Amino acid sequence: MYNAKAYSAASATSPLASSTIARRDPSGHDVQIEILFCGICHSDLHQARNEWSSMMPTAYPCVPGHEIVGRVTRVGTEVTKFKPGDLAAVGCMVDSDRTCPECQAGLEQFCSNLTLTYNFPDKHLGGVTYGGYSDSVVVDEHFVLRVPANLDLAGAAPLLCAGITTYSPMRHWGVTAGKKVGIVGLGGLGHMGVKFAKALGAHTVVFTTSPSKVDDALRLGASEVVLSRDAAQMQKHAGSFDFILDAVSADHDINSYIQLLRRDGNLTLVGAPEKPLPVSFFGLIFARRSLSGSLIGGIAETQEMLDFCGAHNITSDVEVIPIQKVNEAYERLLKADVKYRFSIDMASLKSE
Ligand code: NAP
Ligand code: ZN
Repeated sequence: MYNAKAYSAASATSPLASSTIARRDPSGHDVQIEILFCGICHSDLHQARNEWSSMMPTAYPCVPGHEIVGRVTRVGTEVTKFKPGDLAAVGCMVDSDRTCPECQAGLEQFCSNLTLTYNFPDKHLGGVTYGGYSDSVVVDEHFVLRVPANLDLAGAAPLLCAGITTYSPMRHWGVTAGKKVGIVGLGGLGHMGVKFAKALGAHTVVFTTSPSKVDDALRLGASEVVLSRDAAQMQKHAGSFDFILDAVSADHDINSYIQLLRRDGNLTLVGAPEKPLPVSFFGLIFARRSLSGSLIGGIAETQEMLDFCGAHNITSDVEVIPIQKVNEAYERLLKADVKYRFSIDMASLKSE
């Protein structure tokens, strides 16, 4: 065991602050990674503030962070995939049982014995797992990903959650050239969704509540942008979408998007607002539309997504911040004021 530096929340109402946490020494299949960058996902804020208390109550202290890139510093004796000095990445998961049907299918995210990167029982040290707002992390090599060498590391970090969470449902629902795809909410997830939909060849329409983001949406690859609070603009697209990805972090009317789907169209929710969203069944039954959810993606698919990003030179548009600005960044997330992901330069933690 060794001490690592971290930023943690002591309670749902306290700001994140500098702290020291215990990490295990790497043994067996463990890889120790010096964290260089960690993205800030809205899920970090939901959990630091215990907004998912009914499903996933937060244990304190909470060290968020599941968009991790860094360099391997030490490996256990049985590690075969990584050696010290390699670039490496970790996303939302650090363990699963590897034997259940979900794991066998490469869908570790649905394993009933899944261990998430933070705020989940830690099998090794007791207590809960601690995430990437830290100088290092120790993870089984099965859950460690390779980062294509051509990608900027600050912009690659968000691929580990925002990237895979948008890539996976698009692959599952067959987003290809010729399909009309909607992306709702131009935040961290949404802007990655636009980049992937464009790279997959779809006609991509962004729905935003922020008029200030229209030019960016077009620059990111959208073919059209709709201001979602303008009913006339929404109505123009009624019944026309093959697929809509909803990546909104707060309460909003999903029925106004369901009616934009064509027959057999699908709306997938990846956003996880604090309160349930009411659904009108009429919107679904009349055109056999479907509503579904999606959770990150499996390890093999995450590597596939990273390799796709390497081949297409896709990274997240990031605002790099020192860890000392994390509380300010959370307040800006709540105002939808991020273009389009905060990425923490973890070198800033050395001065704490
Ligand atoms: P984010 O960067 O804060 O983006 C959320 C976007 O939602 C905002 O930029 C804004 O876009 C829109 N929005 C915010 N408040 C709104 C409101 N009141 N009404 C309508 N639109 C609003 O968040 P994120 O990191 O992308 O995460 C988005 C959600 O996905 C979060 O709930 C997060 O927990 C969840 N998530 C789920 C998974 C999964 O596996 N399913 C993985 C990661 C994250 P505009 O300004 O364009 O309107
Ligand atoms: Zn996330």
